[in-house]
Amino acid sequence: MRNKLVVGNWKMHGNMAENKQLLDSIVAAINDLHTKAQFAVCVPYPYLSSVQTTLRGTSIHWGAQNLSQFDKGAYTGEVSSGMLNDFACDYVIVGHSERRALYGETNEIVAEKYMAAQRAGITPILCVGETLEQRESGVTEKIIDEQLNAVIKLAGIESFTKAVIAYEPVWAIGTGKTASPQQAQDVHVFIRKKIASQGSDIAKDLSILYGGSVKANNAKELFTMPDIDGGLIGGASLVADDFVAICRAASH
Ligand code: PEP
Repeated sequence: MRNKLVVGNWKMHGNMAENKQLLDSIVAAINDLHTKAQFAVCVPYPYLSSVQTTLRGTSIHWGAQNLSQFDKGAYTGEVSSGMLNDFACDYVIVGHSERRALYGETNEIVAEKYMAAQRAGITPILCVGETLEQRESGVTEKIIDEQLNAVIKLAGIESFTKAVIAYEPVWAIGTGKTASPQQAQDVHVFIRKKIASQGSDIAKDLSILYGGSVKANNAKELFTMPDIDGGLIGGASLVADDFVAICRAASH
């Protein structure tokens, strides 16, 4: 049985004072929610320590938004999975479309980062999704197939017992255009069937999140679709009331 998971992706937003205020409000509203749903925030590296201090002992998990594929070495500016472990990260986002588009992360690099996270015992949240152009030219499934194949080839199908997938159509991220619940459900089914073709039990237990302009007013209808196991939330995760409403929508 899969439990719902809602993860906030703060991207490059926040500062010490705002983060504390945001997290204090979220903790006050959802820490005592009696639910099997899980909640997490993925925050910029410099705030991992203070976020850990604020969230330790609460029901809210934390993680990072990226990591190096390498364990150590002369990689100026990079952060390894071992370093994330020093801050007890439960999750790390890998292959977010912004990383793929702006920083040249290929399917192969994303697969290496996924492996690096798992080597350190951190659950990767593997982002996949198509651009608007790709959707309009009818290659959505082909693109997602290729994104998943790179990871399956390197890490093996068994690795999905310790991973989360986030389906994030690029055209829906930060644009206010949400995929309809049925559009998202269709792609989630495609992903689950693909994993099932190599491991049916693994596919049944795999959490597949939807991401792309999830808001307080559309979360519920997305989360009621049978293969949508929660959400990866960008903009709305920066507003306590909105994030809390989305977490509540996952809790019923
Ligand atoms: C994201 O950054 O992963 C995301 C889904 O952003 P937004 O919710 O703002 O579309």
